[in-house]
Amino acid sequence: MTRTWTPGTPDAALTAIARTPRLVIALDFDGTASPFVVEPLSARALPEIVEQIERLSALPETIVAYVSGRSMQDLRVITEHDDDSRVALAGSHGAQYWYPGVGLAEPVPDARDGEREELWAAVRPIVEKYDGAEFEPKTFGVGVHTRGAAPDVEEPLFAEVDALIADRFPLWRRRQGHHVLEFSSRVEGKDAAMAALRAQFDATGILFAGDDVTDEDAMRVLGEDDLGVRVGEGETAAILRVGSPQEIAALLSVVADVRGAARE
Ligand SMILES: [Mg+2]
Repeated sequence: MTRTWTPGTPDAALTAIARTPRLVIALDFDGTASPFVVEPLSARALPEIVEQIERLSALPETIVAYVSGRSMQDLRVITEHDDDSRVALAGSHGAQYWYPGVGLAEPVPDARDGEREELWAAVRPIVEKYDGAEFEPKTFGVGVHTRGAAPDVEEPLFAEVDALIADRFPLWRRRQGHHVLEFSSRVEGKDAAMAALRAQFDATGILFAGDDVTDEDAMRVLGEDDLGVRVGEGETAAILRVGSPQEIAALLSVVADVRGAARE
């Protein structure tokens, strides 16, 4: 059962995850750490979330990671990430990784990667027919965005792209989120990212927060010693639900307070 968490309210599950010996805090980016914006590359995490990430990543045995559908290149831009960062990154839904002190972990090549430019060439002219829709070339595929388009654009545009993919690229993995339709040559989902982060950092607990359908891949693989947090409405396997990225900042602040006090 998912319960709604209100900032300022004590919660046993939050206290428990804050006290796990080796903690990974994994955050989706868009809609979880950052409010939605029309121009995808201008998205930035809320300052109050950045502040809590700095507090948390300074604590011992505590790793913060962004886990996003964005390609690694874009994710590093929007998270203002540099080579000295203590924040780990999982991009392209868990097909790409960057680890503090290690850097980029090279992805394993996939036969479908070679079809990518053919896919771009087929999808781009469809997107360009629709006002306000945006074509996003991605490392492992393509994203079609309708955040900046009129409400009646999404349905016919997505239907047209779906028909093309079904005809010419049937093996690509489809993902749909808030005003975005994506196809990827990689089958990895955020479930793979949970397993990779758990192994990389030998985590005893993962706190994962996300706001979208693709985040549920991660929620579903969380165990008893982990904690899933859903941002906003929608069906979820998360334990807690909060209303907004601002409330994620409040939740991270509680985790940092409890974990910091326990470590003193
Ligand atoms: Mg999101």
